[in-house]
Amino acid sequence: MKLNAIELSQKLIQIPSYSGLNSEVLDFLGNYLKKIGFSCDYLQFEGDNSYPVNNLHAVFNPNNSENIIYFAGHTDIVREGDKLSWTHDPFAAKIIDGKIFGRGAADMKCAIACFVAAVEEFLKNQNSINFGIGFLITNDEEADGINGTAKVLQWMQKNNKKITHCLVGEPTNPKKFGEMIKIGRRGSISFQIKIIGKQGHVAYPDIALNPITILINLLKILKDHKLDEGTKFFDPSNLEITSIQSQNLGGNVIPNEAEAAFNVRFNDSHNSQSIINLVEYACQKTVGFGAKYDLKYRVSGESFLSNPNFLAPIVANAVEKICGEKPILSTTGGTSDARFIKDYAEVVEIGLVNETAHKIDEYSEILEIEQLQKTYYEILKSFAQKLEF
Ligand SMILES: [Zn+2]
Repeated sequence: MKLNAIELSQKLIQIPSYSGLNSEVLDFLGNYLKKIGFSCDYLQFEGDNSYPVNNLHAVFNPNNSENIIYFAGHTDIVREGDKLSWTHDPFAAKIIDGKIFGRGAADMKCAIACFVAAVEEFLKNQNSINFGIGFLITNDEEADGINGTAKVLQWMQKNNKKITHCLVGEPTNPKKFGEMIKIGRRGSISFQIKIIGKQGHVAYPDIALNPITILINLLKILKDHKLDEGTKFFDPSNLEITSIQSQNLGGNVIPNEAEAAFNVRFNDSHNSQSIINLVEYACQKTVGFGAKYDLKYRVSGESFLSNPNFLAPIVANAVEKICGEKPILSTTGGTSDARFIKDYAEVVEIGLVNETAHKIDEYSEILEIEQLQKTYYEILKSFAQKLEF
């Protein structure tokens, strides 16, 4: 049975699919895609200090085309919290006043539904296509994200499943559909620094070594250092201090240790290693004789920018055609699975509005779901046209 984007959205929202294992939601999606000609691989990955995860890979490429555009997304949802705080059951997918309510509506089940509906209509209207279409759907983007998209991409490479272009359906618009698409993302790296000084009496600071003073100096140097002025598509890189702690031994004791955490969001004029080098250098210069430091870090993703000459203009023009205005080509916001995909294919993110994502009473506007479906349809159409030239 053919379902439209709204009906598909409802079906997906009605299956509570928390991060990890949920075969029901991917079976539903896979069965639907099989009916419109896709071949599906259900992939379960586990290990690497994380829980097992279900993923779906589906592809339709009847002419073995060299160019394959994928839609990447996630079916997993964050917890709904206190159900009683919701005006409408988070899994009922009720439509009220032109909005569809439910956990995962904005982030990002309705977008998946839109792409499925757009593809179905597109294939119905074509006698033959000069490219392939694929789906890369994981049930773990919201939590660890270890056994999801990254491992599907590795599996694809091993099994010669080509991917050349990719749309990620994360909600990219702050307030209304069509405002913003994402053509890249900043990189992110989190640091923890511990300064080890020498404990002592506050009255005799000359025979102690206060780690808090050193830490504050270091943080000030790091915070005052201008990383860059921003680049063509990126805001200036930024460092934010997220916590400062010491042992709090009392009003008359210089503590032995003090710790801080900070995060750096960096643009395409840096990479994680250049940021790490910079922080290391500041530590070496600031933490003087007698004190020690212990620096730890975790890289969440490198910055990237997709080719501004192919997929990005296709997407921007499609949005303009449906909404009447060109979207902002943005690189703002947090990381997404696009950070894995960019190593394999040109990637652009376009989805619904993120304003209610993860919140109580999450919803998407019916009108905007229809606009997104039409936009995806336009993207497929111009993708086909552009490949012919
Ligand atoms: Zn999401």
